[in-house]
Amino acid sequence: MRLSLPHVLLAAAGSLALSASAASAGDSDWPNVDPRVAPALRGALRQVATRFSRPECAALLHDFDDARTDRPLAETLCRSGLSLQAWLRSVHFLAGEGRSGCSGRGTFAYTAVGSKVVWVCPLTLEKSPRPRPGLTANVLIHETLHSLGLGEDPPSSEEISLRVEVRCGR
Ligand SMILES: [Zn+2]
Repeated sequence: MRLSLPHVLLAAAGSLALSASAASAGDSDWPNVDPRVAPALRGALRQVATRFSRPECAALLHDFDDARTDRPLAETLCRSGLSLQAWLRSVHFLAGEGRSGCSGRGTFAYTAVGSKVVWVCPLTLEKSPRPRPGLTANVLIHETLHSLGLGEDPPSSEEISLRVEVRCGR
């Protein structure tokens, strides 16, 4: 649930640069994104939306089960009555600065199983030296899967992130 991989830390900076150019986008697209993290996330969130629009990436919802029901995440989404795009926009991405969850070195974001709140750690974002484009998007995809009910350990955080990369790109 918590991503604290060093490469995640590294990757986050890339998206910062990426999102700077996208900062002019209206916030109406992302009403549930905390203004304190919106500039850093906007570009990555748009990338997530693009990736989720591809069937091979959306297939993640069939790869993983909801820990609460032992049924595919796709069923949880179906029961919600929302499309995957609508679900993404319904998740609250909030600034987690000062919260204990953000105290871990390199923790980019975290959430709880089935939670519609993803805490983003802005300081980790800002300190990221060399980003890999797309990684921030994949971190957000990883957390969105948790919001749909995906548990962790098992599958391991690394396993989830690798599958996201295979399905959705780097
Ligand atoms: Zn996780």
